[in-house]
Amino acid sequence: MPKTILVLLAFCFQCSLVRAQTKIIDMHIHSYSDADFGEREPTTDYYGMKGASNAEVHRVETFAAFKKWNIVKAMVSGNPQSVEEWAAKDDDNQVIRGILIFSPDDYGLDSIKFEQMVKDGKIEVFGEIGAYYSGTTLSDPIWQPYLRICERYDVPVAVHTGGGDPGGTYSWSPKARLIKGDPYLIEDVLVKYPKLRIYLMHNGGEEWHEHALRLMAYYPQLYTDIAVMLWVEPNTQRTVTEFLMNAKHAGYLDRVMFGSDQMVWPYAIEKSINFLNSLDFLTAKEKEGIFYDNAARFLKLK
Ligand SMILES: [Zn+2]
Repeated sequence: MPKTILVLLAFCFQCSLVRAQTKIIDMHIHSYSDADFGEREPTTDYYGMKGASNAEVHRVETFAAFKKWNIVKAMVSGNPQSVEEWAAKDDDNQVIRGILIFSPDDYGLDSIKFEQMVKDGKIEVFGEIGAYYSGTTLSDPIWQPYLRICERYDVPVAVHTGGGDPGGTYSWSPKARLIKGDPYLIEDVLVKYPKLRIYLMHNGGEEWHEHALRLMAYYPQLYTDIAVMLWVEPNTQRTVTEFLMNAKHAGYLDRVMFGSDQMVWPYAIEKSINFLNSLDFLTAKEKEGIFYDNAARFLKLK
């Protein structure tokens, strides 16, 4: 066979490999209502980029990123009203309904109302649980009725780990403390509910990524996302790189899932994808796992 044809064939094979990797599940997306735009979400990110100006612009830009990057499923966490609005406008069946919750009684919720929402399909993933921001941990008694329900109905749980927004403790989340973001603080939950499907969000953050990895080693049912870490600051990009190297070395990459945590900056979705793709020590197959396969397995997608 002439050399040029061989080269051409090799090139086509490469193309098909690249093409096979393009399906993405984003395990960490946020939705908002207009009332959410204010104190909690700062107007500019670390790099001075302005966020979306209102809830509708934000949703449209986020959906556009789904389309551009072939994000076929997204775990959408926000107040229940905003999640329902997104689900109603979700023509391509991408939205997995989550709920953003800091305290168990947010939105006037209790365990009876919570169970009803689960039964009605209004909560498909319980999270993002930002217990950290209310100065609690998932192991605290107040969260247990919800976790029992999640285990009974096989509803996946998504728990924030790591720190929060710099300055948040002085404004909207006065009870937040860095120490509450240590993944080890959810160990009792893993022991008490061995059948619970649960994933860490932000892989323990900058501070605790070794703890996240150790916990994943000890509890083989535990998954993690790497959301926000992929884009938000140079320091998170540094530590998530370390985490991925360590997870690869330790053999736990198959429980690491892509997430963006775009908050009010939809551009962060593209930035997160590009950053993960730029990591040369990960093979195409490992990236494919992080972008899609691991989450598909965790979510039991057909
Ligand atoms: Zn988040």
